[in-house]
Amino acid sequence: AKRIVLAARPVGEPKPSDFRLEDYAVPTPGAGEVLLRTIWLSLDPYMRGRMSDGPSYAQPVPVGGVMEAGTVCEVVASNNPGFAAGDIVLARAGWQTHAISDGRGLAKVDPKLAPISTAVGVLGMPGMTAYTGLLDIGQPKPGETVVVAAASGAVGSAVGQIARIKGARAIGIAGGKDKCDYVKREFGFDDCLDHRDPDLAAKLKDACPKGIDVYFENVGGPVFEAVFPLFNAFARMPVCGLIAHYNDTQSVAPKWAGAMMRNVLTKRLTIRGFIVSDFASRHGDFLKDMSGWVRDGKVKYKEFVTEGLENAPDAFMGLLKGANFGKQLVRVGPD
Ligand code: NDP
Repeated sequence: AKRIVLAARPVGEPKPSDFRLEDYAVPTPGAGEVLLRTIWLSLDPYMRGRMSDGPSYAQPVPVGGVMEAGTVCEVVASNNPGFAAGDIVLARAGWQTHAISDGRGLAKVDPKLAPISTAVGVLGMPGMTAYTGLLDIGQPKPGETVVVAAASGAVGSAVGQIARIKGARAIGIAGGKDKCDYVKREFGFDDCLDHRDPDLAAKLKDACPKGIDVYFENVGGPVFEAVFPLFNAFARMPVCGLIAHYNDTQSVAPKWAGAMMRNVLTKRLTIRGFIVSDFASRHGDFLKDMSGWVRDGKVKYKEFVTEGLENAPDAFMGLLKGANFGKQLVRVGPD
């Protein structure tokens, strides 16, 4: 069996030497336990946070520990009455080919309902993040303007499509022409702008002639600076992620922090951070709505597959820089 452990805590951008590939013996399940074989490994931006030991909402991965991850696994052997060999489960097996579980936290995946990889994508954590952050905090109304960056990614692509289902205009922001074209053509956004365009602020203003009512914050940085002046009164900003800042080594208060707070006051803005697990009680609604939308073709999704566990570090480093085009997955083993 093979696994990838955290070799060192990164300073700034993660580098190959922060990860280490190790061999280990395939473990044997004890009483009440199952042996899992990983098929799909999900790579997600939050893993950058787990590599650091700064204050956060979750414990860091210890140095030498297996990198954490959501996975889709096959039960290979079971001593647990709740699971049988051959079952497909959503698990948190981490960056490794095999893992033992006592069954807690495992959820069965029905391969007949949808491709099993969607359990860590559009029908899993990223889809649920988009659904709850947009609907519970953003609360878009028909005719309103919703802006989201990382718009070709797992979360952003779903945010814009759900916004349109709710009758709002969806404006995406993504890295490069190919991604922007895809976001418009396949995901049906009303427009999509390149965040590397030096004229982003002016182009965003043109794309949002009636201002911005919901900004689903995925990135921070210059995108946020372009969005902020365009907020309408009573606009909502679910703060989901700040990927432009995950490699920052120090935080600096911008000179315009005072002006920003004045706008929060005068425009009566709602800015609310959230972690998808805050909305666990909405999981049933999410699965019902989202699986219906996916089945009816109202929500499309794009996967970006890297082959082989040994390539997970490169794929993860790429994800932080936009090398992925769609939900980043690693195929660890055959279906
Ligand atoms: P994506 O599939 O969207 O991949 C990340 C994307 O971020 C890259 O592809 C890149 O796209 C974009 N990006 C990277 N750096 C920058 C930058 N400096 N400026 C603008 N865009 C940048 O990942 P996810 O959909 O999984 O995650 C999207 C966001 O949601 C992340 O911030 C993540 O941390 C957050 N998240 C939060 C959760 C929560 O519970 N709060 C749960 C899940 C995700 P491009 O090429 O377009 O720049």
